[in-house]
Amino acid sequence: MLHIRNYIGGQYHDPVEGGWIDNVNPATGEVYSSIARSTAADVELAVTAAREAFPAWSALTAKRRSEILMAISRGIAAHLDDLALAESNDQGKPLSLAKSVDIPRAIDNMAFFATEILHTHTEAYQTDQHVMNYVTRSPLGVVGCISPWNLPLYLFTWKIAPALAAGNTVVAKPSELTPMTAFLLGQICTDAGLPPGVLNIVQGYGAEVGAAIVEHPMIKAISFTGGTATGATIARTAAPMFKKLSLELGGKNPTIVYDDVEVGYVARHVARAAFTNQGEICLCGSRIFVQRGIYDAFRDALVREIAAFTPGDPLAEGTRMGALVNEAHMHKVLSYITLAREEGGTVLCGGSRVHLEGRCANGFFVAPTLIEGVDAWCRVNQEEIFGPVATLIPFDGEDEVLAMANGTPYGLAASVWTNSLQRAHRTANRLESGIVWVNTWLNRDLRTPFGGVKQSGVGREGGIEALRFFTEPKNICIQV
Ligand code: NDP
Repeated sequence: MLHIRNYIGGQYHDPVEGGWIDNVNPATGEVYSSIARSTAADVELAVTAAREAFPAWSALTAKRRSEILMAISRGIAAHLDDLALAESNDQGKPLSLAKSVDIPRAIDNMAFFATEILHTHTEAYQTDQHVMNYVTRSPLGVVGCISPWNLPLYLFTWKIAPALAAGNTVVAKPSELTPMTAFLLGQICTDAGLPPGVLNIVQGYGAEVGAAIVEHPMIKAISFTGGTATGATIARTAAPMFKKLSLELGGKNPTIVYDDVEVGYVARHVARAAFTNQGEICLCGSRIFVQRGIYDAFRDALVREIAAFTPGDPLAEGTRMGALVNEAHMHKVLSYITLAREEGGTVLCGGSRVHLEGRCANGFFVAPTLIEGVDAWCRVNQEEIFGPVATLIPFDGEDEVLAMANGTPYGLAASVWTNSLQRAHRTANRLESGIVWVNTWLNRDLRTPFGGVKQSGVGREGGIEALRFFTEPKNICIQV
């Protein structure tokens, strides 16, 4: 059985206290590897390694750090097939998606921040003829990066790349549900010439390893992506220690379809926005508001498009929907379908677990589910389900749809579909959301600020925002 060990000080280690966790392939239900169940003792080793590595790493020129991060990016690219297979086996996602989205995006994350540090500048302010201010930006020291299970390597690299590029050393924890690609990344980093201790990856449970990272006094900042409840726990621990915090949390994203669109085309994209990666993307649009004039036609077109997401073996060519990440999550998703029925909803398609044949007979598959007849204020439309479940809600006017779209505790992402430029601008401006896509979805430019409002998070990742988060500015004022 493969052992997924910690990567500390440039080498793989067993956990100090020796515990292991079963790692299940969600498509088959079978245990296929063992994960280090690390504790605070392993975090201590990782912090020590990171502290020792910090002076030399932060003193390197940006050009040298950039070269090493580019080598990591090339290393990920060279292992694209292996990493994509590992991601699919660990997470349940279609192999084709891991090959076309997850791993390419990890390659891009490393390359983007490797090159961004070559092109940034700091500010200078001339107060008057005799006084000049300039600003320096220094790395923080050792920082903590904690990532979730839905886009494992994609979100792991989204955090560690800017942290390392800015000159910090890192103690990172992937989700214990999807540890494999972060584990494989360790060797890629070693091969790329990353000095020992610059990146340390500690595996294990969030409540044990994650909490130990957040609590550690020598870790200066925490970049976290995950659920809102976990984010609140982390904030409670980190705030009295005055740590910098970046929290990317849950969502309940609206998709707004106005009646001037081409129904078939938009239904195809709205289905993709709701069901890609089994609906397990924080940016998926799970509340679909459709203007009444096209409601019936749109509903029928959407149901037809959803048929393309019939669950299948993630490794089979052509599968667009794989398994949910684990059994507990599958039951949580199914419980929301039961709740929707109790709340008066009608299931238009899907609505149950799917049992496949062959090697996936015991996998955790749920049919893509579309529900109508539940109002915007019921629990199904207020709470994050994070699975292949979407609801359809009709509306008449802009004010009405904006009240419903904004009427949740979340505010991460939204998409608006219309051919009216004015309506697109008006709607985008009034949406309480960190990102608004118009006539597109999941279209990402890595330079843009990424994050949510309300309970979807605090702070922004991406581009210069990420480099700002991972550095401390200093104003130097000179009288001449
Ligand atoms: P969790 O909040 O359960 O976990 C996220 C990470 O935090 C995991 O590595 C987890 O470890 C760890 N963790 C858990 N408890 C603690 C703790 N007390 N202290 C420190 N770390 C802890 O989220 P999920 O992994 O279930 O991910 C799904 C959630 O992530 C959804 O709500 C989704 O919306 C959100 N998300 C947000 C995104 C955004 O950009 N805003 C992007 C992607 C997902 P372990 O797995 O071992 O428990």
